[in-house]
Amino acid sequence: MTLLSEWEDLLQRRPALRETLEPLSGVLSAWQAWAPDPIAPLAWTKEACHACWARGEPLLAGAPPVIQPDSLEDLLGPGLDVLAGLEENVHVFAEGWDRGEIEPAGLFPQRGRIGSLEVQERGQLSQEALAFLAVAGLRPALAAYFAECRQYIAASEWDLGVCPCCGAPPGFADLLEDGRRQLACHLCAANWTFARLVCPLCGNRTSKDFVRLLAEGADEGYAMAACRACRGYVKELDRRLRWNAGSALVEDWGSPHLDLIAHRQDYWRPIPTLVQLIPPAPDEAAES
Ligand SMILES: [Zn+2]
Ligand SMILES: [Zn+2]
Repeated sequence: MTLLSEWEDLLQRRPALRETLEPLSGVLSAWQAWAPDPIAPLAWTKEACHACWARGEPLLAGAPPVIQPDSLEDLLGPGLDVLAGLEENVHVFAEGWDRGEIEPAGLFPQRGRIGSLEVQERGQLSQEALAFLAVAGLRPALAAYFAECRQYIAASEWDLGVCPCCGAPPGFADLLEDGRRQLACHLCAANWTFARLVCPLCGNRTSKDFVRLLAEGADEGYAMAACRACRGYVKELDRRLRWNAGSALVEDWGSPHLDLIAHRQDYWRPIPTLVQLIPPAPDEAAES
């Protein structure tokens, strides 16, 4: 099943959210249709990957892909449309891209953020908008680039809270059949297991700082695993309760109403859903 067909299933399953979620369909359709000049997968051996990970570095830091700007245009377009629909001014970014002042590498994850500060300033986007755009614009390219290296993650000892391939913070977490927590990368489709009693966003290990904001009723099985130390959270799905759920990205994008629970309590997440991208309502803005 492709992400797009999973997404279409989800829209059927959640009719109340259909209208809200529809703009994201354009992004998933563009991923499916994307047929660039093939991006050669990074051909590092298992040993080379493990040596890089033993140094605590994601692969992208040591071997950044070269991506032609033209090849991303069909992907960035729908991402920019989503942002424009949410009243984000995307013209400065689009013009900067057209003039070649903003390049694909400017969207890559960096230590502690997604996309460079320079691109954020040049494009006059919020950090959330830039992170969303990086996912929309890069995912198929980075997924193709790391396609061969992903298989080496499981046998490695990578234990950081960022993606071992591209270095992005986690987009979603899955509790697997055996109780392990697996983090998913929205930028490159990699996943990696991560300790349950550590915050992936700040490394905190103090269990009294961890809060689980549980979804109820029809959304049983979903939770927001939040950390009082950094006020960050990762949305999590217990696959033991939802064996037939879709891919991490589809489940995440398809449940922004659950992010509201965390958002209302002032928790943040590094890769936004629609909830974090929507401009605050006037009364909400007045309160802060
Ligand atoms: Zn990644
Ligand atoms: Zn934390």
